[in-house]
Amino acid sequence: MTVWIDCQSVGEEATKTIQTRLHIASGERSWLHDARLASREIFNDTIHLTQQGYTRTKIQKEVDRDDFLRNNKCAVVGKALQTWDSYQSLKEWWENQDDPDGGKPTPPSTDKSGAYPLVMAHTEGYRLTVDDDSNRVQVRISPKPYKKVKGHLRGEPDVMDELRDALASEEVDVGQAELLYRDGVYYLHVTVTREFNVPEPDTSDTLVGVDINERNVALTALDRDTMRTKGTLVLDYGQVKQERQRYHTITKRCQEHGKTSVYRKLGGKEERFTEWVLHRLSRAVVEFAEQFPNPVIVFEDMEGIREEMQYGSYMNRRLHKLPFHKFEKFVSYKATWRELPTDAVDAYYNSKTCSCCGERGDRQGRRFRCPNDECGVVQDHADRNASVNIAWREKVKLDDNNTNYRTHKTQPQVRLVRLSGSGRVSRPPSSRSLAEQGVLAHG
Ligand SMILES: [Zn+2]
Repeated sequence: MTVWIDCQSVGEEATKTIQTRLHIASGERSWLHDARLASREIFNDTIHLTQQGYTRTKIQKEVDRDDFLRNNKCAVVGKALQTWDSYQSLKEWWENQDDPDGGKPTPPSTDKSGAYPLVMAHTEGYRLTVDDDSNRVQVRISPKPYKKVKGHLRGEPDVMDELRDALASEEVDVGQAELLYRDGVYYLHVTVTREFNVPEPDTSDTLVGVDINERNVALTALDRDTMRTKGTLVLDYGQVKQERQRYHTITKRCQEHGKTSVYRKLGGKEERFTEWVLHRLSRAVVEFAEQFPNPVIVFEDMEGIREEMQYGSYMNRRLHKLPFHKFEKFVSYKATWRELPTDAVDAYYNSKTCSCCGERGDRQGRRFRCPNDECGVVQDHADRNASVNIAWREKVKLDDNNTNYRTHKTQPQVRLVRLSGSGRVSRPPSSRSLAEQGVLAHG
């Protein structure tokens, strides 16, 4: 079974898409264009034929054509049938639900004439190799029989590293790629598949609590046996928030003045910027967890967050705009890729409970002060306190520990790093290790 990018898997295969830009060194761009137009025709024909009850094998025979690689044709037919299947299951769901007003799914359109992604199998329709001298990922695409487009792939350094690793590894399977085109640039999206063996949360020795709010992500790693704090990290992205606020103000102003095209462009920019931030933050979480033996990454149940926080309209917008859920997905996905388990616990006053004695308290500015005289603990960072509680709840969950035993009063000092919003959205600085490259500046 193949699990797509937003799913977590245990002992299964997961497929991920590596997005690169195509730099063409030889061959005609028009061949690529023609092949994408031919892909559209094959797509349309496949949908027509499957509607008439043709089997996959019969369709493959029927749509055969001279100007297109057979192998590519099989891949495009496969993608078209996938689209048809998802339409079928959506329709089935729609027919079985009670709401007749809900939009009835429409079958995939077959009268479009524009281009469609050219789908290709690795080593047949396209082939990737790593050049020993330049370390470049070379690509050879066969858009038509006897026609080859050659060049290399470009992308963020870490993305390219991942692709090189996939090509070198026996465990990773480089699969189909799709050729896309946008604003004068050709993109090659390469899928890689790997089998994962993610251990159960119960086998973990380190509990890593993750608390996310609109200012920062706080992480605390607790030893499952001793409940001592092994490390704390607070990732501050306040500057990023300002950046997002700026985009929001500009896009809103454009919207009000009816500048739809500018609005759309900026909207896309804001979205890409958010994605970039989420990727940076989620990678930092996984890198933090990885330093400890057998970690489990623990989130708060996201639904609970909405109930606990009482936000005004400003915060409501922020909550929806800053996609916590997406962040969690990104972390889970990256964790799966590194075979680390994730888990979720109830969000029950995690930010208002003293992590040492369990007393309900409140944050005072950046600190958390316990109102219990016998405890009197002061946390140097209130958000760390919440992340400790989240890790602690995982302890309760895994070990069924309902005693009053809580964490130690003495905590190591919080390490604070700052993610800065550079605003360089189209070409964000890439990083292998965030802190090393200065994307996260120590504060
Ligand atoms: Zn306390």
